[in-house]
Amino acid sequence: MRAFLSPPFLNGDDERALVAAALDSNYIAPCGPMVDALEREVAARLGFADVLATVSGTMALGLLARALGIGPGDEVIASDLTFIASVAPFVTLGARPVFVDAAPGTWCMDVALAERALAEHPGARVLIATDLYGQCCDVDALAALCARRGVAFVVDAAEALGATCRGRAAGKGALAAVYSLNGNKIITAGGGGLLCSDDAALLARCRKLAGQAREPVPWYEHRELGTHGRLGNVPAAIALAQFRHLDDALRDKAAVWAAWLARLPAWAVPMPTAAYGVPNRWLTVATLSGRDPFRAVTLLAERGIEARPLWKPMHLQPVFRGVPAVLSGVGERLFAEGICLPSGRGLAADIMDEAIGVLEAL
Ligand SMILES: *Cc1c(COP(=O)(O)O)cnc(C)c1O
Repeated sequence: MRAFLSPPFLNGDDERALVAAALDSNYIAPCGPMVDALEREVAARLGFADVLATVSGTMALGLLARALGIGPGDEVIASDLTFIASVAPFVTLGARPVFVDAAPGTWCMDVALAERALAEHPGARVLIATDLYGQCCDVDALAALCARRGVAFVVDAAEALGATCRGRAAGKGALAAVYSLNGNKIITAGGGGLLCSDDAALLARCRKLAGQAREPVPWYEHRELGTHGRLGNVPAAIALAQFRHLDDALRDKAAVWAAWLARLPAWAVPMPTAAYGVPNRWLTVATLSGRDPFRAVTLLAERGIEARPLWKPMHLQPVFRGVPAVLSGVGERLFAEGICLPSGRGLAADIMDEAIGVLEAL
């Protein structure tokens, strides 16, 4: 590949220096000073009371689902246009999902359809909305809906680190928010996740579950089952160095987005930007009206340029056949027309020009 979709980006020697410090301290363990510093600095910058660093975003969502007491038969309302890791941790615990389509103006969960889903499923326990491609869902509107019905509202902000909604960090205002530090996200630990909340009791419970649910006594005492979910000190060192350069990442991603926008032909329409927020521009995404994005992905790959189709809506996934959904057709249209363009920081102008040539010739 000459241009990956969203490759990791190292900030000079900063990652190397913190990894060396972690190795020198011999804290090569799922705890340690880098983990503590990462959790503290993320909480301070994003404005959450507490943060738990986990081995993946998926793990963070799984811990959250456990802590919320999700079990067999519980209804969970979720975004339809998302990556499957938004819902899989809930469904694995026996939850029954209900999918809600995307709004045309944001591509995130449609608030009016969410209201309908809540009315049609009055027993729903949790609503989880995805901040799609780095754009926040309407946290305030969804939080208000959920508060009225006593439904726990959480945000899958895996793709949205650094994005804001009405001036607050992605997911702030929900019961909890989950970010991903996977290799393709805006910053990375190789693999990792951040579970953020203002609810200290909820995060304490997640922290306990992430440590094999060991009771706080000197011997190994277990009253329930947990898992091994905490991030290691060495990947935390990478994440910490990356997090300290989050503003650089946001600046570079915005520059890539602007460079694509300056080049896109009129029939390629970029993902709309919601008036209520500032996206992190994790990926540059557009719809190609009347042209085949799947063919574009193939043709670009032949030139070593990695593009991807949009997430395939959950209600179209074979694993979710027969699952209830409140649909408007927006997600299906976006999947049929959309393309994620290579969005690596510092993406070369000649690669963009070449890719535009491929799109023009479709
Ligand atoms: C990446 C991603 C996840 C999962 O995060 P991992 O760290 O890869 O486990 C969950 N939801 C969405 C929307 C994502 O993009």
